[in-house]
Amino acid sequence: MRLAGKVAIISGAASGMGAATARLFAHEGAKVVIADVLEHEGRQVAEAIGVAARFEKLDVTDEDNWAAVVAATTRAFGKLDVLVNNAGISGSAEQDFYSTDAWHRIMAVNATGVFFGIKHAIPAIKHAGGGSIVNLSSIAAIIGSEHVHMAYNASKAAVRLMTKSVAVQHATDGIRCNSVHPGIMPPMRTSGRTADPAIRAERMRVIPMRRPGRVEEVANAILFLASDEASYITGSEIHVDGGAIAI
Ligand code: NAD
Repeated sequence: MRLAGKVAIISGAASGMGAATARLFAHEGAKVVIADVLEHEGRQVAEAIGVAARFEKLDVTDEDNWAAVVAATTRAFGKLDVLVNNAGISGSAEQDFYSTDAWHRIMAVNATGVFFGIKHAIPAIKHAGGGSIVNLSSIAAIIGSEHVHMAYNASKAAVRLMTKSVAVQHATDGIRCNSVHPGIMPPMRTSGRTADPAIRAERMRVIPMRRPGRVEEVANAILFLASDEASYITGSEIHVDGGAIAI
């Protein structure tokens, strides 16, 4: 088992790629904390996994929430080895590309939420003797996106560089930090225009593999970076995008 004995927090694990990652981590021997604002859905994911999982309510934009979730994790499972910063909201439901409200809302969840997660997990991971942080960015960190508020691109680019900053700062603490960049996946709960079948079909034409990714394909990349198999990999990024940004 590739994560035997490890304890992980996964933000946004009530749904999509976070839930798939929680299931895979538990299958590979980890104890997982499903942390999400969605209480009902999060509890269902945890119950389906069984004793290796527990749900903790978390709004990633609330720093006190993060402190409480890290404390609850170490209380329940004794330590923290892995943080997956996966929670996020889309920018494609916004009608106004220059909405200031949308800017603040998207940056708060997708960028500040990741900062808070890292800030509160690092002391616990250090206490455990080192570990791994995996941040969910996007190909939108690297190329501009049509149909999406610019804060989505900006927030995911912030995640990409926060990742490299943490990798450099904490390399000698035995803490690795890497980012995963999905391409076109099943739509997010908060997707707007990018969930439209016509827009998806149009975007699919520019993906070399001509198909969307599956949540399990992203979870596999996260698992690798979380595990000791990636022991010399830090500050790095994996694109899980069917070749979308290779062209
Ligand atoms: P999703 O909408 O299915 O899941 C996101 C989860 O984050 C949900 O469970 C949601 O409740 C949670 N969340 C949202 N705001 C939160 C908050 N303030 N506090 C705590 N939890 C919160 O989306 P997904 O497709 O599984 O996306 C997972 C990650 O991958 C996100 O960071 C997203 O930006 C990124 N991503 C998604 C795609 C895609 O096409 N789906 C592509 C590239 C990157």
